[in-house]
Amino acid sequence: MRSVHLTPLHDAFREEVSAFFDQHLRPFAEVWEMERCIPRSAWRKFGEHGLLGLAHGPAHGGSARDIFHSVVFLEELGRTGYAGVRAGISLHAYMATHYLARHASDELRRAYLAPSIRGDRIAALAITERDAGSDLSRLATTAMRDGGDYIVDGGKVFITNGANADYYVVAVRTATPVPQARRANTGISLLIVDSRLPGVQITRQEKLGWHAAATAELHFDKVRVPADRLIGRENSGFMYLMRGFQLERLVAAALAVGGAEHCLDTTLAHVTSRQAFDGKLSNLQAIRHRLADMTTELAGARAFTYHAAWCYAQDELSVTECSMAKLLTTELACRIADNCLQLQGARGYLADSDIARMHRDARAGTMAGGATEVMRDIIAQQLIDLGPSRASPRQAESSAKT
Ligand SMILES: Cc1cc2nc3c(=O)[nH]c(=O)nc-3n(C[C@H](O)[C@H](O)[C@H](O)COP(=O)(O)OP(=O)(O)OC[C@H]3O[C@@H](n4cnc5c(N)ncnc54)[C@H](O)[C@@H]3O)c2cc1C
Repeated sequence: MRSVHLTPLHDAFREEVSAFFDQHLRPFAEVWEMERCIPRSAWRKFGEHGLLGLAHGPAHGGSARDIFHSVVFLEELGRTGYAGVRAGISLHAYMATHYLARHASDELRRAYLAPSIRGDRIAALAITERDAGSDLSRLATTAMRDGGDYIVDGGKVFITNGANADYYVVAVRTATPVPQARRANTGISLLIVDSRLPGVQITRQEKLGWHAAATAELHFDKVRVPADRLIGRENSGFMYLMRGFQLERLVAAALAVGGAEHCLDTTLAHVTSRQAFDGKLSNLQAIRHRLADMTTELAGARAFTYHAAWCYAQDELSVTECSMAKLLTTELACRIADNCLQLQGARGYLADSDIARMHRDARAGTMAGGATEVMRDIIAQQLIDLGPSRASPRQAESSAKT
């Protein structure tokens, strides 16, 4: 799609990324799905090609490209049709490492960010808990100071890359949990926890889709973590997360756009080749109109995602636009996957078909990275409670949602 936001440089980059995926992702993704993880060799390939550091600065090996290089990369990643792969890569490159790049000390950046950009170390972001999903104020994993260490106790669930990460960026409570404070968003910090530390227990979680995402439940039993693994300031984690969530939503939107486009591409190929009645399925008006509707809606969602990306580049606290983009695109991706499965008929319903996988995968998009209802809450709060003047991030997202 043409866009005022995309230059010939972005177009050339799209070609480059697509060629990389043709060579290093598409031929292997089915095996990664079966093995439930992206192998280390693939992470390194992404790193060698500079694809894990597009958003990061050159001091640690990134290329600090503009936001639309990332949008193009994420769309193309979505267009591969493997949401488990796209989740693993994007969680690492745009979410877990984002907090290191923005808030960590130089020492931590050298030790964790630089090898992550090279693809030598795999990162995960661990926020969600069994009893703390959309409502971050219920977060109960603690990190209490003991001399030069923190002692981490608690657990996390649904952690993408959890089973094969080298380290986790973990949201913990560092303030003493008194009853009132437990319900508030204060006292949250971000801590790097190495996955091989004594007391870290990792249990794989088997899901409906996103198979290559290496999802795991983590249990921390008196894990001793050096205090210098704290990211930024103690008890400032909530503010860091609120900023990070906007990027997470934008990333989810660009991936969803790419994923939906892939559904449409494969469906178009199917209906234009499938013989039925006196011609092809694509001659039937009901099918033509359905495709036209989906393509139009997707073009609108893509244009809005570009707008949200532009807003984010101006102001990282573009809460409304990023929430709208996530809501719009992930819901649309579900509808498109569902319609496309219908258009591909029974063969699309076979468990190992491309569209069946995309249908399963699309479903997670409206939950992961903030449920659709939470996005509506945030948008409505801005619209109804706070009025047209820009809300502060704390107002717009008073109970942060992951
Ligand atoms: C595939 C996948 C990968 C994930 N990866 C990660 C990860 O890497 N790291 C991480 O920390 N977390 C991860 N998550 C967790 C994700 O962020 C949570 O699923 C999300 O925050 C919602 O929390 P929950 O699932 O506990 O749902 P709950 O908070 O229990 O909510 C259940 C449902 O209730 C509804 N709901 C919730 N709040 C409201 C509201 N205010 N108004 C109306 N309805 C509401 C929504 O429909 C929601 O889906 C992942 C989840 C999935 C599915």
